[in-house]
Amino acid sequence: MPDYDVIIIGGGMVGGCLALALSQSSRRVAIVEAAPFAEHASKDASKRAIALSWGSRGLLEQLDLWAVLSEAAMPIRQIHVSDKGHFGKMRLSAETQQVEALGYVVEASQIEAAVADRLAKADVDLLCPAQLLDYRVTEGRAVVSVQVDGIEKSLSCSLLVGADGGLSKVRQLGGFELREHAYQQRAITGLLKVESSYRDVAFERFTAEGPIAMLPHFDDLYSLVWTLPSELAEQLIKQPKDELTARLQLQFGQWLGALSLVGDCQSFALNLAYAPTTVADRVVLIGNAAHQLHPVAGQGFNLGLRDAVGLADVLMTTNSDAGEAASLQVYAKRRKLDQGMITGFTDQVVKLFSNDSAALSLIRNNGLLLLDKVPAFKNQFARQTMGLATRLARLKAN
Ligand SMILES: Cc1cc2nc3c(=O)[nH]c(=O)nc-3n(C[C@H](O)[C@H](O)[C@H](O)COP(=O)(O)OP(=O)(O)OC[C@H]3O[C@@H](n4cnc5c(N)ncnc54)[C@H](O)[C@@H]3O)c2cc1C
Repeated sequence: MPDYDVIIIGGGMVGGCLALALSQSSRRVAIVEAAPFAEHASKDASKRAIALSWGSRGLLEQLDLWAVLSEAAMPIRQIHVSDKGHFGKMRLSAETQQVEALGYVVEASQIEAAVADRLAKADVDLLCPAQLLDYRVTEGRAVVSVQVDGIEKSLSCSLLVGADGGLSKVRQLGGFELREHAYQQRAITGLLKVESSYRDVAFERFTAEGPIAMLPHFDDLYSLVWTLPSELAEQLIKQPKDELTARLQLQFGQWLGALSLVGDCQSFALNLAYAPTTVADRVVLIGNAAHQLHPVAGQGFNLGLRDAVGLADVLMTTNSDAGEAASLQVYAKRRKLDQGMITGFTDQVVKLFSNDSAALSLIRNNGLLLLDKVPAFKNQFARQTMGLATRLARLKAN
């Protein structure tokens, strides 16, 4: 039976980045991915824009991915946050934070393509298309059954990593607790032509119906993530494009001048789901398998990338057995603060800003004013947005 130090289930953006990080070490690594890599780029989900934080840029540099991605990345030099119908506003700028950009926008398919390209050349065994069927932990190994080209195979490893997304089979088979909250909201995503000449300003506009995020995109377009109550989103997405645009314009206002939708929109149900414990005997969950967040703050991949590089950092600073309990505890302890803070922050923002109660409106307007006017609060918020609120791992090959 082929034996590895680490088997990663899921070769999405997070699992792929972990494999690339570990390929810089002497660990023997296999990655098991259900969808052929070429198919990733054609999925609707792959066309969405991902806002990468400034901190994620540094991590992608360590994985040798940034040189390729930077050619396609749109810098965000200002972030503008407002609340429809209220006075509170907050602005962050790269200049005052003394960085080249607060973050960048890259299409998910470009990240996936860059990861797949590097993986094909890396010292990693790729099993694709292949599905996890089952696993059991016995005598210090995880024994994993997978289906490759319709044939069942057994592999063993010291550490099994679940990077298999929100519906993680690793999480289900391992009996990890999952805490879930359905927001009863859907996100409508799409691309927009805008009248204004802004190209490096990201907008977050809170409305009584839910938040609207507008990210600068390529070809002079803006990328939309519009959160709405589920029923309303389902009605709106069926409407003719000009009616949908008129509704969006009314909610978003004139910050970008006249808006016009280009191409089709997609819609996703929004939930919060997280595993309070992400490590078990010889198993660890990372990325969306560990925490699936509302996209309002654009944090899901950024957080998952910090999981991947954080885990690689732990595994690369010890030569001992990859799945030993002590290393997993070090990883879990280091990641706990960041995971808890980002999950809690995103959840609170959604609840506070998707509600039209007068009391909450007063709190959020005062909150936005405080964030804008008090430098200490603003700097803390900026560090969180830029993915710098907690220690970032630095990889050292072993
Ligand atoms: C509308 C929207 C906008 C977003 N915007 C942002 C943003 O601006 N910034 C940001 O940081 N994040 C954003 N996110 C979140 C981000 O997209 C996710 O956090 C990220 O894609 C998670 O990556 P992952 O690799 O953990 O999981 P996934 O992308 O779900 O990958 C899991 C992989 O596992 C494979 N797999 C699943 N089951 C099996 C199995 N049994 N066997 C083998 N393989 C399997 C799948 O084929 C897949 O390739 C957004 C999300 C949405 C919905």
